[in-house]
Amino acid sequence: MISHKFCEKIRKKDKISHIIVFGEEPIRAYDRVHLTSYFSDKPLDRLYLSEEQWYSENNIELHLDDPAKAIDRDNKSIISSKGLRLHYDFLVLATGSAAFVPPIPGVDKEGVFLYRTIQDLDHIKEYSARAKKGAVIGGGLLGLEAAKALVDLGIKESTVVEFAPRLMPRQIDDSASRTLQIKLDKLGLTCLLQKSTTQILGDGHITGLSFSDDTQIDVDILIISAGIKPRDELAVACGLATGPRGGIIIDETMRTSDPAILAIGECALSNGMIYGLVAPGYEMAEVAACTICCEEKLFNGFDMSTKLKLMGVDVASFGDPFIAEPHARTILLEDTNKGVYKRLNISTAGYSVASSWARPAATTCYCRRSTTTCLSPPTPKSFFSAKKPTANLPARAWNRSPIRH
Ligand SMILES: Cc1cc2nc3c(=O)[nH]c(=O)nc-3n(C[C@H](O)[C@H](O)[C@H](O)COP(=O)(O)OP(=O)(O)OC[C@H]3O[C@@H](n4cnc5c(N)ncnc54)[C@H](O)[C@@H]3O)c2cc1C
Repeated sequence: MISHKFCEKIRKKDKISHIIVFGEEPIRAYDRVHLTSYFSDKPLDRLYLSEEQWYSENNIELHLDDPAKAIDRDNKSIISSKGLRLHYDFLVLATGSAAFVPPIPGVDKEGVFLYRTIQDLDHIKEYSARAKKGAVIGGGLLGLEAAKALVDLGIKESTVVEFAPRLMPRQIDDSASRTLQIKLDKLGLTCLLQKSTTQILGDGHITGLSFSDDTQIDVDILIISAGIKPRDELAVACGLATGPRGGIIIDETMRTSDPAILAIGECALSNGMIYGLVAPGYEMAEVAACTICCEEKLFNGFDMSTKLKLMGVDVASFGDPFIAEPHARTILLEDTNKGVYKRLNISTAGYSVASSWARPAATTCYCRRSTTTCLSPPTPKSFFSAKKPTANLPARAWNRSPIRH
């Protein structure tokens, strides 16, 4: 996604340079953020980020199904898997990330899937036709989205298995998680918290999961959604600096430790942070285009607002949801009858600094796109009232948070 955005951005600034794109996947760039809608209302045609002819119209040479295999920094050239060797003046790495797969015995069994590409979804769809009981390892934003997708695919019994004591552990607190859990239960999703999977059971294909507390569940299909791992293998192989837990180290101009090579998107480690979000990636694409065109623009970090993409289950989190006394004061509203949980953390000086809530669809959303600022109503009282939404947090304000190893 970020490579495509970068191409758009640089073409606006520079009409003549020769741009070559190598893609590992056999299809052109598509909207990964809305991948799940591929199961329901969006055929692949509607997920593509541009028309097929867009690349040629913009004088961009596209090599699909031909991943870059090596970087020869001494000769400033890139070698593709199909054997092409091409010179570069600037090289931009936008290799994204892969799903992190925990080393659980049995992960290679038939019926165990990841949730990252169109190909993953094709495989899940095909396999789900013969499955009755599903599970997802990982109760974060993506895991919950995948679990709901299993239900929508007709798997009536689906379980979310989370290692932490609450769902969306990086975005919401225990009470919000409880509220969310009740809502998910109504959608047919069972949540098992504080569960450490020790084995994927089955002879050839998955039949169940066993846990460290000696319990087991029956499972026919499993999706692993336990975090992301930046795709930095090309960078490592050619000696670029990478972080101790992965990711290509970049400065605020998007340059790596080699000034002719830039990195953007989920493969890039900026100030110790991998952004598992599309919006910061788009900003990185803009900064990289500026850097190459000798314009001054720096990347100074980005907001990590989050929104769960489950119809009818509104969960949003922005700022620092866990900030507490003495650094902030907390105002809470919890209505277990209506299934509403709202929490507003305000600074001791009176500014809104963070908030998190889980609430039903009809109540108010006060957050603003791409900023840690809450659109604060005049008083905390009105913040907690269920008036007409001031603004909706866009779907892109979503976060799978930094890597979980
Ligand atoms: C199901 C799902 C839902 C999501 N929802 C949201 C959301 O609501 N909001 C949000 O902000 N973010 C969301 N995300 C995250 C968002 O999709 C990513 O942040 C974004 O795709 C990152 O873009 P990227 O270009 O860095 O990586 P990618 O989109 O993964 O693109 C990287 C591409 O590089 C290719 N590649 C890797 N190595 C090579 C190589 N050596 N040579 C050539 N090509 C290579 C990969 O095959 C891939 O096609 C979601 C992700 C998923 C999977």
